[in-house]
Amino acid sequence: MSRLPVMFIGHGSPMYALHPNRYTQSWADSVINLPKPVAILMISAHWYTRGTRLGAMPTPQTIHDFRGFPDELYAVKYPAPGSPKLAKQIFDLLHPTHPTVTLEESEWGLDHGAWSILKYMYPLADIPVVQMSIDASLGHSQHVAIGQTLRPLRDQGILIISSGNIVHNLGQVVQGQDVPPATWASTFETFFKEHVASGDCSPLINWQDTQFAQLAIPTPDHYLPALYTFGLKHPEEQLQILTEGVEMSTISMLSFAFA
Ligand code: ZN
Repeated sequence: MSRLPVMFIGHGSPMYALHPNRYTQSWADSVINLPKPVAILMISAHWYTRGTRLGAMPTPQTIHDFRGFPDELYAVKYPAPGSPKLAKQIFDLLHPTHPTVTLEESEWGLDHGAWSILKYMYPLADIPVVQMSIDASLGHSQHVAIGQTLRPLRDQGILIISSGNIVHNLGQVVQGQDVPPATWASTFETFFKEHVASGDCSPLINWQDTQFAQLAIPTPDHYLPALYTFGLKHPEEQLQILTEGVEMSTISMLSFAFA
């Protein structure tokens, strides 16, 4: 079985689920030439928990985890099956080193950090999906370590996608199309990209003292998914930029893969 890439997708506004654009096209394009995965593991910024949780339900519900959007968006469903078997396999991989991991058999499902992307990548929703949460109580390097522990799954037909946004400052968003990026947002995005391309991810794992980090990452939930990819990456793998751009002044849409 050939090794599948690992991806970080900047998911942006939930409205992209209704209105395809150049970002959603890049998500669809990113999987066109891949073998069909046996299953997908989604690591979503929108399941931010204490302890690492794994969705282990056979039929995960589509969660509309946002308020104030049009009815049409609440009608979107992504009816992919779950995989209790894969969830248990991941649990067994993680538990020896991350004993706070748990299996969730009823709570949660697929949130929009997962389905707003997957509906473009795999519109048939016929591949089992397991969602994993982000443990808010972990130190930064522990997220990388979880990624490293999960690395063997990439050789077993599992496509691993983490979903967030490298720059995500909702407090300073400027609504509208073609809004120019805040200078600090572009600067931070470039800083991120340059380091990830060079293979020196340590300043990205310990980002607090970086210029503009407080503006780019006012809360860590949307940034932390990227750290998993640093652990999931094999040393010899190359960075592929899938798409980039800053929307609404302060949301980076940077998406990348290691393959
Ligand atoms: Zn989000």
